[in-house]
Amino acid sequence: MLTCNSLSPATFLRRVLALPGRSRDALEGQLTRSVAESVGPAWQVMWFDAGRSALSALLAAYRIGHGDEVILPAYTCVVVPNQVAGCGARTVFVDVDAATLGYDWMLVERAITPATRAIIVPHNFGRPCRVPDDLRSRYPAIRFIDDAAHGLGTLVEGQWLGTRHDGAFFSFEYSKNLTGGIGGLALLPAGGGLPDVKTGHVPVVDQLRLAVTLCGHLLATRSALAGRIWMALARRCKLVYRSGDDQVHGGVAHLPRHLARLSATLLVPQLTAMAAIRAHKAVLARRYHQKLSALPGISLWEGDDSVHWVRFPFRIAGVAGNKADMARQLTAVSGLPVGVWFDDPIHPLGSFRHGYHAGQCPVGEQLAAEVFNLPMNCALQPGPALDAKLDRLCEALGKLL
Ligand SMILES: *Cc1c(COP(=O)(O)O)cnc(C)c1O
Repeated sequence: MLTCNSLSPATFLRRVLALPGRSRDALEGQLTRSVAESVGPAWQVMWFDAGRSALSALLAAYRIGHGDEVILPAYTCVVVPNQVAGCGARTVFVDVDAATLGYDWMLVERAITPATRAIIVPHNFGRPCRVPDDLRSRYPAIRFIDDAAHGLGTLVEGQWLGTRHDGAFFSFEYSKNLTGGIGGLALLPAGGGLPDVKTGHVPVVDQLRLAVTLCGHLLATRSALAGRIWMALARRCKLVYRSGDDQVHGGVAHLPRHLARLSATLLVPQLTAMAAIRAHKAVLARRYHQKLSALPGISLWEGDDSVHWVRFPFRIAGVAGNKADMARQLTAVSGLPVGVWFDDPIHPLGSFRHGYHAGQCPVGEQLAAEVFNLPMNCALQPGPALDAKLDRLCEALGKLL
């Protein structure tokens, strides 16, 4: 999978080499000013080592815990329910709507009980999921928290996604819109008081691992082989940074920490360049849309230039088989790295399910089986070479259908 969507090797090198002269607090201050310019004074901005940590801070701000229920989409990443269960609340999974990749709001309303304290609103792939106004007004005590991990900088009526409800969290993990390696941001309405839930700093050795892993991902954007060799060496030297198995397979919550200094310095120039980054990806999305929409049997989700796509999803209706194998084959014939997000209602496949049982949310399961995606990466240039790859992809898809 192609990652480091908005970070170039040159920016990475420049920022890493200049890192010794910069303090973490000063960098975080720069990031805060940059975000505040976009979201305005109505929002408090707080930085973390990961999106999951930012979610924990929001849950803590609203004092959500034992005896409470939190509604989650059955088309999400395991680290989201991890943090909900970690604060003591009960996870309630609700099915999504294939037309939007967001909630089926009728099912959400049915799942609401007197114990429901929060609803985590998905914005999968960066497309905004609209909360029906009447639902919000009928349940004024329920907090609607935006999981904007896929949609940093997506605009809804000119405003940042995540500024219409009761709080939002964003992620800067390798594969997300902007690349910090890891990193998270929480927005909470001003005056609400964000509790300081951070337990410490990302150790220097982990930041070294992050830098080594980022190098591997950046190399892979230039040469898949070079990236593979680098990552194999990094693994042998135990220098790859990844989420622990206790979180993915054990469902354990992550302890929030401060944003890493390395992540902060990488994010400063990307935040500044966000409008240009989003515009570049919108051009890619139009290209993908144009090519794939000509294929019967493929469904797409609309999104105009205000969407900051994290990846570009497409659905192969009725496809059956091993999704990872199919993605590998499509990648091999087309030369475009085809991704599998999400491959389970609680992604990734095989992770801890927090009580979710097979058959509970059939639409989420079907999307997990049939939705693939294409990269939204600044290293990809629209043009004849990309078109040729897309043509080969369409040909392969035509045979699959
Ligand atoms: C990546 C992701 C998160 C969590 O972000 P981290 O920074 O990895 O903690 C949350 N929700 C969704 C939908 C994600 O894809």
